[in-house]
Amino acid sequence: MHRTLADDLSRLPELLQSARDFAAREVAGLDARPVAHLGGPPDAEPLPADGVGAEGALARFAERWAPGFSASAGPRYLGFVTGGATPAALTGDWLTGAYDQNSAGGGDSTATALERETLSWLRELFGLGDDHSGAFVTGATVSNTVGLAIAREWLGERLGVSVSEEGAGALGPVDILSGSPHSSVPKALSVLGIGRGRLRTVPLLPGGREAVDVARLDAELEALDGRPAVVVANAGTVNTVDFDDLRAIAALKERHDFWLHVDAAFGGFAALSPSYAHLVDGLDAADSVCVDLHKWLNVPYDAAVQFTRRRDLQVRVFHNASPYLGAPTGEPDFVHLTPENSRRLRALPAWFSLAAYGRAGHREIVERNIALARRLGDGIADVPGLRLLAPVRLNVVCFTLEGDAGRERVHALGRAVAGSGEAFVTPTVFEGTHALRAAFSNWRTSEADTDRVLAAVRRAAGATDS
Ligand SMILES: *Cc1c(COP(=O)(O)O)cnc(C)c1O
Repeated sequence: MHRTLADDLSRLPELLQSARDFAAREVAGLDARPVAHLGGPPDAEPLPADGVGAEGALARFAERWAPGFSASAGPRYLGFVTGGATPAALTGDWLTGAYDQNSAGGGDSTATALERETLSWLRELFGLGDDHSGAFVTGATVSNTVGLAIAREWLGERLGVSVSEEGAGALGPVDILSGSPHSSVPKALSVLGIGRGRLRTVPLLPGGREAVDVARLDAELEALDGRPAVVVANAGTVNTVDFDDLRAIAALKERHDFWLHVDAAFGGFAALSPSYAHLVDGLDAADSVCVDLHKWLNVPYDAAVQFTRRRDLQVRVFHNASPYLGAPTGEPDFVHLTPENSRRLRALPAWFSLAAYGRAGHREIVERNIALARRLGDGIADVPGLRLLAPVRLNVVCFTLEGDAGRERVHALGRAVAGSGEAFVTPTVFEGTHALRAAFSNWRTSEADTDRVLAAVRRAAGATDS
């Protein structure tokens, strides 16, 4: 064994203690550090010929890289839809690395059974029935991709061809219909050989809504004249957190032949609150469902879950036939369900957080975030020179400048907010208007944090105005 490596091995408990102390300081400092780092990276260094050992690497990291990391795990990082890591989730994540299990298949460990237990807890949390089976993947983009891959196989089944054997070309042109699909959906269609151009957006409800007009969807499906299609329903859009009427869409199945995929990346968490659960009413009727976990469950990157009613088709797409891996019989191993072969035990942080806080604890996070988004929305509506672009429907505040809300001015406002170090929000375009989004999904965020965000936005707007 290399001398430095042997040395590290002999001092492993002390090294882990150093890492713990360092991490504890960093996490404790989340409130004080600038929320975003706007400077560049340090100068590159060459590959070390001789390493400096783990303690030395920690010192180098602390000096060169740590200062440039954002406080994205902290309470006032409201860009994109970004969760933090609950204390229990972080604990589970550390142990994931320590145990280094490969959750591809069983036979040598109970790790895959832990993943299954976590999946059944999540299924219950989101109100899905026993007909849905799940698997962990890295994020909602991959979850959408897996769901749409199963949909593609289903289209083949309807048309009497096997896509997994013959390729996507055997299908001919495919119809994918959606109201306000997330950008990861066309990406998935590109990956799957269906093509971004096959995504057809269906008109939305009037009045600034991002929810699909179900009557128009009905008409589009009717026009297909019996040809099977795929409908991507959206449960929580990123700009205004609007929800398609899932129950009404599912009811269209009585008259039309389509696969229903629901992108509930963060909107799925509405199910945790009795006041908002109606927004995802009908989720269980989906053929495949995408929910992100590194957003509103507040587990560290990267984790999402995908559910489907057609695991048989999923196995057809993803089975990895090899004598050394075993055949997908009975309860298929995860290696036969997702794009990965070897798989990190992503379930462990989620298992820890659910074990630690249960349904009630996670419901509290969701409801607090929603209340805080409303608080910020009310505050922003009162700031001269700013206006809300949409009502705060759930956990996102979408706002812009009064008057000339051109790209330059709106982006300058976002940069000024980030430059204050107090908060981080990200730009978007909604109905042709440049805007900023503040998305609440961190378990730490308090009323005081929200008021600090409002103050930072108010100051930045004043400065941008003058
Ligand atoms: C965030 C998001 C995605 C993509 O999620 P990743 O985890 O970044 O891959 C897909 N759909 C919706 C609605 C999202 O909010």
